[in-house]
Amino acid sequence: NTKLTKEWLQNYVDDWVNFYRKHTNEGELASYIPMLQQSNKEHLGITIIGNNGAMIESGDVNIPFTIQSISKVFTFIVACMERGVTYVLDRVDVEPTGEAFNSIMHLEMKQLKKPFNPFINAGAITVTSLLNGKTSDEKLKPLFQLFEEILGYHPPLNVDVFKSEKETSVRNRAIGYYLVELGYLESDLDLTLETYFKQCSIEISLQDLARLGMILANDGEDPKTGLEIIPRQVARLAKALMLTCGMYDASGKFAAYVGIPAKSGVSGGIIAVSPPRARNEELPFINGCGIGVYGPALDQQGNSIAGIRLLRHIAKQWDLSIF
Ligand code: GLU
Repeated sequence: NTKLTKEWLQNYVDDWVNFYRKHTNEGELASYIPMLQQSNKEHLGITIIGNNGAMIESGDVNIPFTIQSISKVFTFIVACMERGVTYVLDRVDVEPTGEAFNSIMHLEMKQLKKPFNPFINAGAITVTSLLNGKTSDEKLKPLFQLFEEILGYHPPLNVDVFKSEKETSVRNRAIGYYLVELGYLESDLDLTLETYFKQCSIEISLQDLARLGMILANDGEDPKTGLEIIPRQVARLAKALMLTCGMYDASGKFAAYVGIPAKSGVSGGIIAVSPPRARNEELPFINGCGIGVYGPALDQQGNSIAGIRLLRHIAKQWDLSIF
């Protein structure tokens, strides 16, 4: 293990990005949001930021992309910080569904008291309705503040993706009307959906994902300043949900074969979190790191097809599994 110097890790990652890039042609771009069809299927990139601040990056790392479902992790965190964990968990559960992210099946279950988890759309839209504010910009302000604190800048909104998503939102509207009928939403439906589409359309980079992941890896604390940016309890809860529900209906397989908390989105991004481990203490580059992966060609569950394989390979070789 002592051979894991920065240079060695860099060469290793370069080799495997090149190897897995050929798998991109086995996947498909997301088609239900027309703007996402304009991505380049062959792109694959990875950025790793360790808790010592060192960065390893390889492949297509300079392509901005929309955060999509990865935003659900952070609106959940912000809702917990604004309203308290108990309040939020009284309104959304923490159970995986094994169904597609936009499934409406469970909403018809008679005994259902709340959506299954904050990472399926029903749960995410409910969480978004809990955010304070009378306009979508007011509701998203604390989210942008959190991003700004961690990333050092205010990430922009991709207005074209936002419009594209809003115009083609029939399924999310259907979910929204169900939620209204069940009495789960705390804000008006149109406002909630507008906020939800905006949060999904925030444009970020791989470096941003890796940095956000690194803060989560360190339980919400910035290792450089020692400041608590996200309360420890909330960061841990978010990671538990990422592990159990973060990779759509492939979350079980990801936990079994990769073994680290992660969340993916339909634009092809994945944020993965590798907490510090006593046995990796001498490996500052990967001990307590955040990993961002981007590869817009998706598998059938909607996860980056090459991105998952790359993560699986690296997690296995570098012994990152939390188990
Ligand atoms: N904006 C997307 C939707 O709700 C997010 C989907 C995703 O990334 O899984 O339809």
